[in-house]
Amino acid sequence: MSQTIPATLIPGDGIGPEIVEATLAALDALGAPFEWDRQIAGLEGVTTAGDPLPQATLDSIRRTRLALKGPLETPSGGGYRSSNVRLREEFKLYANLRPALTIVPGGRYDKIDLVVVRENLEGLYIGHEHFVQIDDDPHAVAMATGINTRAGCRHILEYAFEHAIATGRKKVTIVHKANIMKALTGIFKETAEQMYEAKYKDRIAMDTIIVDACAMKLVLNPWQFDVLVTTNLFGDILSDLVAGLVGGLGMAPGANIGADAAIFEAVHGSAPDIAGQNKANPTALLLAAAMMLDHVKLTDMATRLRQAIDATLNIDLVRTGDLGGSASTTVFTQALVNRIRNG
Ligand code: NAD
Repeated sequence: MSQTIPATLIPGDGIGPEIVEATLAALDALGAPFEWDRQIAGLEGVTTAGDPLPQATLDSIRRTRLALKGPLETPSGGGYRSSNVRLREEFKLYANLRPALTIVPGGRYDKIDLVVVRENLEGLYIGHEHFVQIDDDPHAVAMATGINTRAGCRHILEYAFEHAIATGRKKVTIVHKANIMKALTGIFKETAEQMYEAKYKDRIAMDTIIVDACAMKLVLNPWQFDVLVTTNLFGDILSDLVAGLVGGLGMAPGANIGADAAIFEAVHGSAPDIAGQNKANPTALLLAAAMMLDHVKLTDMATRLRQAIDATLNIDLVRTGDLGGSASTTVFTQALVNRIRNG
């Protein structure tokens, strides 16, 4: 019997508890040795503890250095700052790894296998914003500050190159907007080119592309890409785009990686439109759990989980509504657990 691995579990908001229960059922069936410490954040944190990121949750992750997290709701416009962004800052989770792999064939795109590596701590996404009052209008002007540092660029670019090489990828594409945001994203492109020349040119191919052209090419011919690395806001948008290539947000996992901790989650949000209806596709979080198993070096278990997901979707043809099926979350989960138990 292997040792237990302490890990923090945040069920999250909206569909979070439903997909987290599905994922726990699959991990239990696999015999994954996680010892969960359940904590709260997001809207659940506000309603239960008056805090979107309670101290107990931070303390738990500081102790376990490992978390599986359901989506956390963030109000648009006013209201509290995103707990996701705060978690990334708190634990310096600088790399956001978002793979997109076709599991269910026959969609608009087939055989997609690409990875978005998103810088997770800097750029325009961090939400350093304010309004400027003119005359009587306190919101006359809205301003945002984007910050990219040379060190931050190096950090994420090194992660992307090393990850690409370690996983046998062929090419890293640097996505930027250095033609217009010459300083903010110019520093990212320039750092990439310098690092490539100094350290990676004999080990992997690299090219660069402007983000708007990248979005167009991802729709026209996504197969030309392999690993995309980009700044925070562009990575946020492009990773939803590539999720769309593989069947939608229900199929897109993400890992937030830092030196002090790693937090695994689905790319999608709390999906309030289907919350509590037993309709959510738990596959994205299940695939995030497989990434978490890889992270703790339980790669055989990760492979078994991925194979069981594949078999449930493609042999048993049990699929949730977002994939054109009629299975509920719980019916899908039971079929997956049967696959894990019986092969
Ligand atoms: P969303 O990702 O929650 O939903 C977008 C659409 O995709 C909806 O139609 C939803 O029903 C569908 N969808 C998402 N996940 C699905 C799944 N697993 N199965 C089936 N359908 C699924 O995006 P949104 O509505 O813009 O955001 C809702 C809330 O989630 C917001 O408060 C936002 O801030 C938050 N959010 C959190 C995270 C996170 O915690 N990492 C990420 C994105 C958004």
